[in-house]
Amino acid sequence: MSRRTILSGAGAAASLACAGGPASAGAPAAGRQAPGVYRYKVGDFEVTALTDGVARRPVTADFVRNASVDDVKTALKDAFIDPNVLPITFTLLAVNTGSRMVVIDTGTGGRAAPTAGQALENLAAAGIDARAVDTVLISHFHPDHIGGVRAKDGALAFPNAEVVVPEAEWAFWMDDAEMSRAAEGLQKNFKLVRDVFKPMAKDVRRYKDGSEPTPGVSAIATPGHTPGHMSFRISSGSDQLIVWSDVTNHPALFVRNPGWHVVFDMDATEAEATRKRMLDMVATDRLRVAGFHFPFPAVGRIAQRNAREYAFVPENWNPAI
Ligand SMILES: [Zn+2]
Repeated sequence: MSRRTILSGAGAAASLACAGGPASAGAPAAGRQAPGVYRYKVGDFEVTALTDGVARRPVTADFVRNASVDDVKTALKDAFIDPNVLPITFTLLAVNTGSRMVVIDTGTGGRAAPTAGQALENLAAAGIDARAVDTVLISHFHPDHIGGVRAKDGALAFPNAEVVVPEAEWAFWMDDAEMSRAAEGLQKNFKLVRDVFKPMAKDVRRYKDGSEPTPGVSAIATPGHTPGHMSFRISSGSDQLIVWSDVTNHPALFVRNPGWHVVFDMDATEAEATRKRMLDMVATDRLRVAGFHFPFPAVGRIAQRNAREYAFVPENWNPAI
C-alpha cells in the first residue's frame, strides 16, 4: 500500500478494517425525526410545543383561490420551499399554568397523512402523561384540530380532561341542517365532528368570545376560516402569547400575502378581514404569536415592512428555559 492510498479515504478505511478498529462509517440512517418538542415560557406558564407531523400538499391551481398558481409558486421559491409541494405542519401546545395542564388543539389523531399523528408520542417524550391533562381546549372543528381528541380506536386520548369548545363552532357543525346543505367535501368533516363529540356531548363545555375558557387563557373570535374559529390570548403576569390557530396557514404564503384566500377558509372574505385585523394587532403590539401551521416550533413575531407587507420572524431556539 503506497503512502498515497493510505492517506486516501479508501486506504484509511481498509487499514482500520485490517486492524480490527471501529468502523468509521456504515451506521444506518435514522430515517425519522427525533422527538418534536420545544419549550418556552409565557410569564410563569410553561408552554410545550408538540409537533403532530406534516401533510405534504401538492401546490395546485385551487390551493389559493384568488392568486395564480405561478404567483403562489414564486412566493414559495422566495421562501426556499419546494414550489410544487407545501409542507403543512401541525403544532399543538401543552400549557402548564401551574394549576392546570391545558392542551390547545389535538392534531390529526393519525387520521390524515402517514407523516402525521405524532402528537401523543411527542407528549410522552416531553414527559407529560396524557392522563394528567386537565383541559383540552379546541379552536375550531377542522379534522387536524379535533382528530386527536380520540385515538384511532375511538378511545379518548386525554381520558381525564374536560373538553372545551367554541359555542359558535358547536352550533354550526352539530346542526344537521347545515350538514345536509354542505358540499360533499365537507360531509366527512361533519361526520368526524359527530364521531368525536356525540358520545360525550353532555360533558363538552362551550365557551364564547371574550370569555376565559380556562384560567389565564381568554378567547378572541377570529371567524372566517370556520364560522366559530377562535384564537386565544394566554396571559401570565405582564407576558402574553397570542395563539391564533388558523388565522393564517403557512406564513410564507399567507402572512406575506394576507389577501390570499387559502382553499381551507370557509368564508374567505371574512377570513381575510380577520387575518388583516390580527396581523395589525400583533405587529403593532409586537406580540408573540403561535400559529398551528407555522413551521415548528411554530412561534415568533410578525414584522410589518410597510402598510401592506408583513413577514413572520421565528423565535430563536432557546436551549435553556
Ligand atoms: Zn388547521
